[in-house]
Amino acid sequence: MFAFRSTFFILVFSLFFLGANGGKNAIASDSFGSQTLLHALWFDEQLAGSDSDLARATLPEPDFSPPLRTQPLHFLPQVQPARQQIITRVAPDGDRKVMALTFDLCERAPHLAGYQKDIINYLRSQGVKATFFAGGKWMRTHPEKAMQLMADPLFEVGNHAWTHGNFALMDETEVRKQVDWTQAQYELLYEEMQAWAEKRGVGREMGKVPPSLRLVRLPYGRNNEDTGDILASMGLPMIQWSVEGERDELERTVDQLVQWNLDKVQPGAIILMHANAVPQKTHLLVPQLVPQLKARGYEFVTVSELLAMGPVVTVIDGYFDQPGDNLYVDDLFGGKGTLGPIK
Ligand SMILES: [Zn+2]
Repeated sequence: MFAFRSTFFILVFSLFFLGANGGKNAIASDSFGSQTLLHALWFDEQLAGSDSDLARATLPEPDFSPPLRTQPLHFLPQVQPARQQIITRVAPDGDRKVMALTFDLCERAPHLAGYQKDIINYLRSQGVKATFFAGGKWMRTHPEKAMQLMADPLFEVGNHAWTHGNFALMDETEVRKQVDWTQAQYELLYEEMQAWAEKRGVGREMGKVPPSLRLVRLPYGRNNEDTGDILASMGLPMIQWSVEGERDELERTVDQLVQWNLDKVQPGAIILMHANAVPQKTHLLVPQLVPQLKARGYEFVTVSELLAMGPVVTVIDGYFDQPGDNLYVDDLFGGKGTLGPIK
């Protein structure tokens, strides 16, 4: 009896202290989805996708048509002052070895981009958290894939502009349109998924899916002196990167890309990659890089979780790897960055 009581009290006290400690060190309690929801809406084969997901195409005419709703219903609070500049990484408290893998899903007006299923399937198989910055038009052309990413608790989704507009070249009205249309498209998919989840009897699980995109990534990393204020007023911190993960991917082997990333990474790093099947080596890079980062003690978190782990490191102007190295895109993509490369 005595032994039983002692065990009982130890258990109660352990739970108490675990609870207190867990509260103090907890990662942001935001949830990004629900396994119950994900598996109630899709079979494993549907989540795994098929080779047709990799397909890309050029449209007969550039598509600038708006989403069914052009204004989001959700409004976000102003971004706090410390986070109003361009965020390249976080300086985690205690130099904790955490980092964020991020994948952009860019789609310009004249193109249909892809979905690199092998990357997502690998992340799911290993339980690796990641953040996807989705173009609004990409979400409209890939509604089911977008909803799967939204529903998956491993993944956070952020805003990557409607047609990949270059914000350095756009006025405020144009920037707001790129961002608002994307926010609205996300909400439309959320509402569609909610109706579907209710039919399947898992409507309550939708409470675990964020009702709004809460981060933005600047296309090409380009901004001007007004961009930060506009996006801060829309409630969206600008999340860029500290490692351009696919740097010189055409000239480098996968092994060289792995080494490039390992040399650049540090606690609080944000790695930029793409999952739109445009870069051709990312699906080979990720399964080699992730185990090497794990072996070095890194833990993968979503960007919002990373932001809760320490102060942000910011820059005034975005860039790929070195300040100024993205200015050339201002002359390269027509239609204020929304069209294809000008040959
Ligand atoms: Zn992009």
